[in-house]
Amino acid sequence: MLSGLLNKTRHLLFPERCVACGKCDTKIDDALCQSCRNGIEPLPKNLCGVCGRPLPFEYEIDTGELYECGDCRKKPPPFERLKFALAYETPIRELMLNFKFNSARSLAKPLAEFGRPALVPWFCDWPDAIVVPVPLSPYRLFSRGYNPSFLLARFLCGWSGLKLADGALRKVRATRSQTGLSIKARAKNVKGAFAVFNQKAIEGRQVILFDDIHTTGATIRECCKTLKTAKPNAIRVATLCRTAEGR
Ligand SMILES: [Zn+2]
Ligand SMILES: [Zn+2]
Repeated sequence: MLSGLLNKTRHLLFPERCVACGKCDTKIDDALCQSCRNGIEPLPKNLCGVCGRPLPFEYEIDTGELYECGDCRKKPPPFERLKFALAYETPIRELMLNFKFNSARSLAKPLAEFGRPALVPWFCDWPDAIVVPVPLSPYRLFSRGYNPSFLLARFLCGWSGLKLADGALRKVRATRSQTGLSIKARAKNVKGAFAVFNQKAIEGRQVILFDDIHTTGATIRECCKTLKTAKPNAIRVATLCRTAEGR
């Protein structure tokens, strides 16, 4: 009881700093002040049901029909469908940058919480699926100390009851940063960089590949291609956020 009371009054006694705008406030919740939280834009509803890109027209989401964009019809991606929870924009971008590049691993939970309403019901639609986080190279994992995708996926799996299969897919070759590379160069950069290490975990299973950020999708496509060599039943992709570049 005392710890509950202390927890409730903690913010009043020790104002915290909002990770996105830097303002000190007594009402910081999930690392953000109220005004930054209010700034999280809801996603548009007219997204392609397969790849998640915005469609050039509006449609009624309640028809139950899955709308596909022209690109997915012409050339289906190497996954059944893709879901993302948040746009990679302020304040989510600031949280992600701190989480990924500033050793702020404690931001995994607040970030996962922001993705929870969209992703957990989507995970629960596939209760027998296993969740495979996009791996880091051993060098990157060592230098950063944690894999952001794994930490986020662990919370989402805990809330949805799905099994986390970390290590089923591994990164066997270090790659240069994808930032600044063209779409073609990104695909080349990650080609052959991943390998399946646990065929049994994947063969015949429904697999959800999970990544923290979707940019152009080059890493995701390469991971899906590699996973397919282990003959999964089907692959879906979930990411916490997606950049405007990837939309
Ligand atoms: Zn703020
Ligand atoms: Zn599409």
